[in-house]
Amino acid sequence: MDMQTSFLDRLFESGLLIDTGVDGLYGRSGQFEDVISAFERLIDKFGGADGAEAIRFPPGMNRAFFEKSGYMKSFPQLAGTVHSFCGNELDHMSLLKCMEVGEDWTKDQEATDIVLTPAACYPLYPTVAKRGHLPESGALFDLQSYCFRHEPSKDPTRQQLFRMREYVCMGTDKHVTDFRQSWMDRGIEMMKAVGLEVTIDVANDPFFGRAGKMLANNQRDQNLKFELLIPITSPANPTACMSFNYHQDAFGAKWGLNFEDGSVAHTACVGFGLERIALALFHHHGLDTKEWPESVRRALWG
Ligand code: ATP
Ligand code: ZN
Ligand code: MG
Repeated sequence: MDMQTSFLDRLFESGLLIDTGVDGLYGRSGQFEDVISAFERLIDKFGGADGAEAIRFPPGMNRAFFEKSGYMKSFPQLAGTVHSFCGNELDHMSLLKCMEVGEDWTKDQEATDIVLTPAACYPLYPTVAKRGHLPESGALFDLQSYCFRHEPSKDPTRQQLFRMREYVCMGTDKHVTDFRQSWMDRGIEMMKAVGLEVTIDVANDPFFGRAGKMLANNQRDQNLKFELLIPITSPANPTACMSFNYHQDAFGAKWGLNFEDGSVAHTACVGFGLERIALALFHHHGLDTKEWPESVRRALWG
């Protein structure tokens, strides 16, 4: 194969990813999905005994909760909102005219009550807060959702709509940081089982603007975010395939996640980037799963 052919081109040629004409928006083949399903079963195997409550939200969330989350303060450049036509027949006529002559027909679309989910855990906090006090022993949740981020790229590991599997832990400082540490250990072990070399490093989010620099530095200095990195499209800049986030009591305070005695819960979440993990596997073991090393196939398909 031509050395100049990019990984994305090879993914398109093999049919694993399907071009839609938009960077970062891809269809996936059955084989690609088989790898994601198998890897999710491996996640179940590692996390299954913890007794997490499984919840699946759709890829859109309540706009009021999104607003309260503060996402627009930190990452306005990444957010995606759902807008719809809400006009009358006259408005409809001018809409169609607009489309006909190739003018911008989207400017009269109105915001709906739905925003695209930016990370799988965002809809969870208000949901749990509504239930009342947290039990003394804390709470653990198992989530998976398509997430949207407006970051179009030719790098197949940076998509605009991708799936995030998450475990979210709520409890005391010690409880949630122990939870986070145990998933860092498990993450390394799981990737080893599927033949992937990883490193773990501190990280920070791309908080927007000049004020955001300070937030990013603080996140890094306080070790609030770690990433599990695997070289995929660039050996020099390995790709984050998992992240391990400690929110201290920020989300607890924001959403009112309290214990019976009124103290505020700490939270942590661990996210698996499912497309990135699949892409790491295809990059390292080849584009045909039948050709993958026997040990890797066994770890994934038994
Ligand atoms: P990056 O630094 O690469 O932008 P991130 O820090 O924004 O990643 P998180 O917000 O921690 O990522 O999301 C959890 C996981 O979701 C990441 O570790 C990654 O595996 C996956 N992920 C994040 N953004 C994307 C994306 N644009 N496309 C595919 N997977 C993604
Ligand atoms: Zn999260
Ligand atoms: Mg990012």
